[in-house]
Amino acid sequence: MTGVILLHPDLLFPADPNQRQIARELYGHVRDLPLISPHGHVDPRLLADDAPFGDPARLFVVPDHYLTRMLYSQGVHPDALGVPRKGGEQEELDGREIWRTFAAHWHLFRGTPSKLWLEQTLAEVFGVTTKLTPGTADEVYDAVSACLAKPEFRPRALFERFNIEVLATTESPLDPLTQHAKLTADGWGDRVVSTFRPDDVVDMEWGGGTGGEQVDTTGWRDRLTRLGEITGEDTTTFSGYLAALRQRREAFMALGTTSSDHGHPTARTLVLPEEEKARLFAKGWRGEATPADAEAFRAVMLVEFARMSIEDGMVMQLHPGSARNHNQWLHEGYGTDVGGDIPQATDYVHGLAPLLNEFGNDPRLRLVLYTLDETTFTRELAPLAGGYAALFLGAPWWFLDSPEVLRRFREAVTESAGFYNTAGFVDDTRAFCSIPVRHDVARRVDAGFRARLVAEHRLDLDEAVETAADLAYHLPRRVFRRGALAPSRQEFSQVTDR
Ligand SMILES: [Zn+2]
Repeated sequence: MTGVILLHPDLLFPADPNQRQIARELYGHVRDLPLISPHGHVDPRLLADDAPFGDPARLFVVPDHYLTRMLYSQGVHPDALGVPRKGGEQEELDGREIWRTFAAHWHLFRGTPSKLWLEQTLAEVFGVTTKLTPGTADEVYDAVSACLAKPEFRPRALFERFNIEVLATTESPLDPLTQHAKLTADGWGDRVVSTFRPDDVVDMEWGGGTGGEQVDTTGWRDRLTRLGEITGEDTTTFSGYLAALRQRREAFMALGTTSSDHGHPTARTLVLPEEEKARLFAKGWRGEATPADAEAFRAVMLVEFARMSIEDGMVMQLHPGSARNHNQWLHEGYGTDVGGDIPQATDYVHGLAPLLNEFGNDPRLRLVLYTLDETTFTRELAPLAGGYAALFLGAPWWFLDSPEVLRRFREAVTESAGFYNTAGFVDDTRAFCSIPVRHDVARRVDAGFRARLVAEHRLDLDEAVETAADLAYHLPRRVFRRGALAPSRQEFSQVTDR
């Protein structure tokens, strides 16, 4: 039918009728399992305050760099989309005007996951099945606005409706965790947890452009000073700095955090003698660090965080491979995380070797690896995860989170890593309302992949059913140590105990 969003029950299943039938059955076993969302960027204030969402444009368009980036690539100015300028000021724009501009360019998203996510969200979450076109922009805007005014569309009500068991947000060690403390006080502490993300106090180049011979470490030093004030440690010394980080990890864990996340440009790790580490750190404080020193310090700190993880049990996630702020004009005008980042080639084999030589065989360490470089799936990541006790493979993310790459991921890594060295799906989203559809897409694609193995007589149906439930639910709970909430040995019987 034209003009109506189709919610086809066979969405993303194989076209082959035999495989499609098996995929339907496999999907039926996981469709209603609770959502585990161990990595993402939802603002915790949303759930702490439980205030109504803003208008549809500010819910769907303004904060979504997947959308604003594509529109910008076709000549729509960020100001016309309400993207806040770097200084915080925003062109005074009516949400409806932003929405009309967006609708006028909606055809640009044909074939992209963004189209699938938004249409499914409008239909499934808001019951709005009118197709978005320039002519229906106002109708869709009004229908969504009417929903947003109702109490059942408040964040906590949607959280329940989405059947989310646990949602992890991401905060810096400098964050006072006020929102998470409020959530805990409200009895939501086990359901919404933080992720310890120390990039801003590790990376001397964080948030700034470089290119010079020396890194401007002013911002890094200011943040370390604040870290010292928060913890009472002397963060001008390397040992005091490490003690401050350990203290913040404890504070995060007291509020339910079970994982850290590290967003480095590369996967480089480095083992150095104590005095060399302290020397690099001191260069940063003196403002004499070169870009090579900054890279070496990030590499050193990954090993330090692995050591801390073994001590305190935090699961470590590494998200390398983004060349941040590649679009300098966008960065200078609108700051970070607005769509100006580009993936780059990443070397895991040599980059991770120093860390893995230290800790890779220690089953107390859990390091979940992500990539923006698809060429590493078969050649590097799957053999590494299939060869070290500490490693797991995270789901394809960001530029790679489409149904196509989710499928290619399984095809590329299962041979060497199997299913059980992968960590389950993470939605990695800022867009709260898109969480259900993103998990649904992963469950459908995985069902399709296993349906083919069953149809080719490589996997029995009962094994495929068991694996489906493990990947969608049990495995991410276990890998991210959320199992302690309601563990039962039976539940995990098919997952190796480690
Ligand atoms: Zn992320």
